[in-house]
Amino acid sequence: MKLSKYYLPTLKETPTDAELESHKLMLKAGMIRKVTAGVYSYLPLGFKVLKKVEEIVREEMNRAGAQEIKLPIIQPAKLWQESGRWGDFGPEMFKLSDRKENLFALGPTHEEIITDLVRNELNSYKDLPLTLYQINDKFRDEIRPRHGVMRSREFLMKDAYSFHTSQESLDETYQDMYDAYGRVFDRLGLDWVAVEAPSGLMGGGYSQEFMALADEGAEEIVVCSKCDYASNVEIAKYQTSSNEEKTDLKKTKEVATPGKETIDAVSNYLDIPSWKIVKTFIYRTDEGLVAALVGGDDDLEEMKLINHLGTPKVEMVSTESEIKEITGADFGSIGPVGLDIPIYADLDIKSLTNFTVGANKTGYHLKNVNWEKDIPNAKFINLRKVKRGDRCHNCGTKLDFHRSIEVGQLFQLGKKYSDSLEGKYQDQQGELNSYIMGCYGIGISRLVPAIIQQNYDNQGIKWTNSVTPFSMALIVLDADVSKTRKLGNKLYKGLNKRGYDVLLDDRSSSPGVKFNDADLIGIPVKIIIGPRGLDEGIIEVETRTGEKSEIGIDSGKTETILDELEQAISKPEAGTNTPV
Ligand code: ATP
Ligand code: MG
Repeated sequence: MKLSKYYLPTLKETPTDAELESHKLMLKAGMIRKVTAGVYSYLPLGFKVLKKVEEIVREEMNRAGAQEIKLPIIQPAKLWQESGRWGDFGPEMFKLSDRKENLFALGPTHEEIITDLVRNELNSYKDLPLTLYQINDKFRDEIRPRHGVMRSREFLMKDAYSFHTSQESLDETYQDMYDAYGRVFDRLGLDWVAVEAPSGLMGGGYSQEFMALADEGAEEIVVCSKCDYASNVEIAKYQTSSNEEKTDLKKTKEVATPGKETIDAVSNYLDIPSWKIVKTFIYRTDEGLVAALVGGDDDLEEMKLINHLGTPKVEMVSTESEIKEITGADFGSIGPVGLDIPIYADLDIKSLTNFTVGANKTGYHLKNVNWEKDIPNAKFINLRKVKRGDRCHNCGTKLDFHRSIEVGQLFQLGKKYSDSLEGKYQDQQGELNSYIMGCYGIGISRLVPAIIQQNYDNQGIKWTNSVTPFSMALIVLDADVSKTRKLGNKLYKGLNKRGYDVLLDDRSSSPGVKFNDADLIGIPVKIIIGPRGLDEGIIEVETRTGEKSEIGIDSGKTETILDELEQAISKPEAGTNTPV
């Protein structure tokens, strides 16, 4: 590609509306442009990288035995009503209607469509297992679209779906997908980790997320440096403290705590350590109201409550009038004693004795509360957020906390969609059974900024060889001078012929502009043809990591120069996985 003809509007100034480096660089390097919040156009350079990522994902899916299809973006509401998710997906779903007022969604995911596709024809155990996948746009009206194509409202995803007659068969395909994901992320040169994950709206079964490590990533994960345990913080397990307090149980006492509405305020006022005060939250769930209790120094993890209850979501009661109706008190004074609703308490507070809770009477707390005597119906589960200092539940090593970007997820769906949409096959005995399903997503468009987030410096992007938009930049200085131009054109043709994808900078710009652009857009190798070099009989080769070498051109033979160039650029570079 000749740069003089290439649509590559790079920016000199750093865009002020971008926070993350990957977002800034994608704008600066002329890869993407914003249309409206969370909606982007790809320019030639951005589209080229996106396609490269897409192709690696496609190759590994095919290698894993999945078959590529293409499903529609417009999805009838009817199917979502059948699965019960029309309401559950909520405002994230883009909804529209046709001229006859029939309702549709722009596909945020495709479980309903794929189950509908196969349910009439995938009827015999002999046809299973089967894995289908597509690479297609998804639409989600994200509450906070951010960081360019990292979290957008229209984005490219690879989604695969598998159908099975047994859990063992699902386990096998799940492992094949896990391995394929590993190959994809390794080929992309990512520093990644797979973590246990909540399955949320998708299913409820076992799930793992693939995380690209990045300090600015949106997701927090915990990793054990000793055993192989790694988890999304939302469901992280840790060693719970089980030290029984050996104290006598005292008599419960109501004490006035006027205007003391926070744990700290109550702790100071009553001179009680904050960990001996139990916090109460009331949640509305599909099954009615429940109370959730954690220690005064801890935070509640809603996802743990959701997972325990097995409902798609829960909603905290958060208005004064509602809380008063339920408990009889204002927020600062609510507590579990006497509440006639299911009570879930965090395992860490099971060992507390003589603790303090709100009295369900505004301006009062109860001191010396004890489980058996005062809250006999409490059920103990893991409810609090994991925190620094917590130890691995497997091996007792202190857990490490990292930030990361979610680039893919695997889900064991079980029969959620096949049951609700009647996706059935006939087994060996002639009985009808629902398929057991799995689904597997990769955020292809998110992968591009994720790769950049791990590979940049002050000059710009540093592409790994597997996705670089061009294998090298052939920079012709003083392009108007006929001898540099001539050699540039010769080498350009020769390198193209040898299969390299070369960006020829034949513009009449200054050397500085040319070097800066090549570095900004992240090309791994620059070949520099300048008048001074030619006088000395050399051309220069410089890698994006700063290693320089020279090639003699005195032979005057293009093929000899090309051979030497090829040799110079084929040296493996640190941080790259495949040769140029
Ligand atoms: P997130 O938690 O980041 O919103 P998700 O868990 O809802 O993502 P999945 O349904 O697991 O997303 O989708 C599969 C993959 O698609 C994700 O792992 C992620 O890489 C990508 N993805 C999801 N939402 C977006 C988005 N709004 N923009 C870009 N990529 C996305
Ligand atoms: Mg996910």
